[in-house]
Amino acid sequence: MTDILDALQVGVLVLDGTDHPVLANAAAREMGLVRQRAGGPEEAHTIVRTLAGQVRRSGATRVVELDLPRLTYGEPLGVNVRAVPLDNGRVAIEAADVTEAHRVARVRRDFVANVSHELKTPVGALQLLAEALLDATDKDPAAAIRFAERIKHESSRLGRLVSELLELSRLQGAEPLPEPEPVDVDKITAEVLDRTKTPASAKEMEVVFQGMRGLTVYGNENQLVTAVVNLVENAIAYSPESTKVTVTTSASGDGYVEIAVADQGIGIEPRDLDRIFERFYRADRARSRATGGTGLGLAIVKHISTNHGGRVTVESTVGVGSTFTLRLPSRPSEAALALPPSVEIGGAP
Ligand code: ADP
Repeated sequence: MTDILDALQVGVLVLDGTDHPVLANAAAREMGLVRQRAGGPEEAHTIVRTLAGQVRRSGATRVVELDLPRLTYGEPLGVNVRAVPLDNGRVAIEAADVTEAHRVARVRRDFVANVSHELKTPVGALQLLAEALLDATDKDPAAAIRFAERIKHESSRLGRLVSELLELSRLQGAEPLPEPEPVDVDKITAEVLDRTKTPASAKEMEVVFQGMRGLTVYGNENQLVTAVVNLVENAIAYSPESTKVTVTTSASGDGYVEIAVADQGIGIEPRDLDRIFERFYRADRARSRATGGTGLGLAIVKHISTNHGGRVTVESTVGVGSTFTLRLPSRPSEAALALPPSVEIGGAP
């Protein structure tokens, strides 16, 4: 019986009429619903005892969701607890771990706070420009055209900001990850070339693809294309006209594929190198605004690479150029491999 209860992921606990645990499974102990103080008997968590008391008095089942501080480390444990009154004052308690759901909710809340600040600036600029446009329409048609063009530029930046914010919030765990699949690296590079043609030709720049062909990585094609497009768009934005961007694909030999994007651009100061992957961080705000940057591109690249079990690194020399390297697994993770594809449960022999 105990081994069956211990096999469950939900915490199971029964308290007698005096709040002593008469039954507790391994999950309940792990969650800290019951604890043992130095040599003494096991006792229930104070919050659990309070809940049991309420249920005993009212005679009705109660369901509550709580964040329990952990004894040892970090993030509080989110639990959904259901307490059911039994006979003789006993109370049965079941608890499910909802820490992950609580984490997602927290990420959403933090995100909204940051975002409102970033949205305020372009919205304020648009209001001013629209007023200036109204004023200038009759008096100064040339100025009116300039204001209209600024409005176009600011509103397309705002549009990009909103779609990148949505993308980032998805990647940060607001939605489950899509099932990883084998993805043809040549298909990624072809798509990247197609999507970056316009900004490259606007600056008379050439994007060159070189290295191994026929490589495969494991993950989600759309996300991987987004990551490499972001790197190539940055390489174009932060380089002088008529320079070259080189995308090199290679196999590292230990189960990884590397996609390196190298430019001959302005480079990045050593003090900024660690911070450029943070959302909304720009080494040079004025320049980033001028190029229409949102400060989210590299945060998106970082999330995509870590979601894929890979990473992104950068090497850069000011005035010479930068190389961003994406390292991605070329096969499923060990955990995914451990599951045989077709195990029949209770099937015919
Ligand atoms: P942005 O939208 O501002 O380009 P990113 O998150 O893509 O935001 O990049 C963050 C910052 O990192 C940029 O503002 C820029 O200062 C720096 N950066 C990114 N890529 C490059 C590059 N290839 N060369 C030089 N600086 C870069």
